[in-house]
Amino acid sequence: MMAVIEVERKSVYMGRLPHGSDLLDELTKICTDLEIECGRIEAIGAVQKACIGYYDQKLRKYKFNTLDTGLEILKLAGNVSLKDGVPMVHAHITLADDKGRVFGGHLSQGTIIFACEYMIEKFDGHAFRRIYDEETGLALWNM
Ligand code: ZN
Repeated sequence: MMAVIEVERKSVYMGRLPHGSDLLDELTKICTDLEIECGRIEAIGAVQKACIGYYDQKLRKYKFNTLDTGLEILKLAGNVSLKDGVPMVHAHITLADDKGRVFGGHLSQGTIIFACEYMIEKFDGHAFRRIYDEETGLALWNM
């Protein structure tokens, strides 16, 4: 299935996330508080540790890698849509260590903020809802 849906930017929010909190949980809380059902997220900063996922396409499940060290957030890119009627943040993150080596993956709980500056855009026009997709085993947008 292929579809293109036009959305309209309604608001842009910017802020800083609290030191020591969980990155995914904080972004999800903001989106829930602001009632964002369709949106875009980006962020930069640093984490104290990270938990990033890799989806094994054969096994159809996530494998999680924990990086237990301070890392720079080179880029967090994500979107917001609805899953089971509530806002769900889907984000991928690129991180760098003290040698500039890069790691990345699907942002998971357990990624702890050192410092983080974010921007969230709220869109109007269409509600993207995630439902189980047989082909991939993932909860994808039902457009
Ligand atoms: Zn992902």
